[in-house]
Amino acid sequence: MLPTILFSIILFLYGITIGSFLNVCICRLPKKENIVTTRSHCTSCGYQLKWYDLIPLFSWVALGGRCRKCKARISVQYPVIEALNGILWLTIFFVCGVSIETALYCIMASALLALSVIDFRTYEIPFGFNLMIAALGLIRVLTDLPNWTAYVIGFFAVSAPLYLLYFVTKGRGIGGGDIKLMAAAGLLLGWKLAILAFLIGCVLGSVIHVIRMRVADAKGSKAEHVLAMGPYLSAGIFIAALWGDRIVTWYLGFYA
Ligand SMILES: [Zn+2]
Repeated sequence: MLPTILFSIILFLYGITIGSFLNVCICRLPKKENIVTTRSHCTSCGYQLKWYDLIPLFSWVALGGRCRKCKARISVQYPVIEALNGILWLTIFFVCGVSIETALYCIMASALLALSVIDFRTYEIPFGFNLMIAALGLIRVLTDLPNWTAYVIGFFAVSAPLYLLYFVTKGRGIGGGDIKLMAAAGLLLGWKLAILAFLIGCVLGSVIHVIRMRVADAKGSKAEHVLAMGPYLSAGIFIAALWGDRIVTWYLGFYA
């Protein structure tokens, strides 16, 4: 019991630290800024953050969400992404235990989290995140060679029909980044869970989009009508990865 608690705490601390790095990616990648060499600074006054300003979660809370120098507000995005990444990692550990899945899914969840925020803001999924998930898929195939066909079929199971849709609608039906995301996730999860992930993503996307459109109409703004699929597909991929097998078994149980 004690080792589990200790491991959970360490994993959470690693999680929020990587979450802090995700914030850097989220802010800088769309602006094509370097994510490694540029020192972290306050976007209002340029104050270069010291190590004690950069402790995930705690610094933001200790500073009351304001810059140490100029007292400008620091976006709540920073602690939220940090905490969320820590919570996602803990959730994965509780579901998958000490396993290769936990390692693969933690990296996957962080990539999904960052690409979701970037897609939500810019309608673009940076190619690097899809490439990273595909690399995880490759590791998955190599560590589960007897089932390699399920993963290779997974690569095409959702992405190929989507590509057809993309081709027919000349890119208006679906984004290229979404197709690559489903291909990469398919390679990591296998075809059954890839299809399930896509279905969950579509259901979440339509329900939440309809609600957001209603809210936007009430406010009289039109911007909300554009739909970024990345966050919904990501949620679908995460849910399918962790609970997909159980969902499929439960669903098939209706026909048994
Ligand atoms: Zn400042």
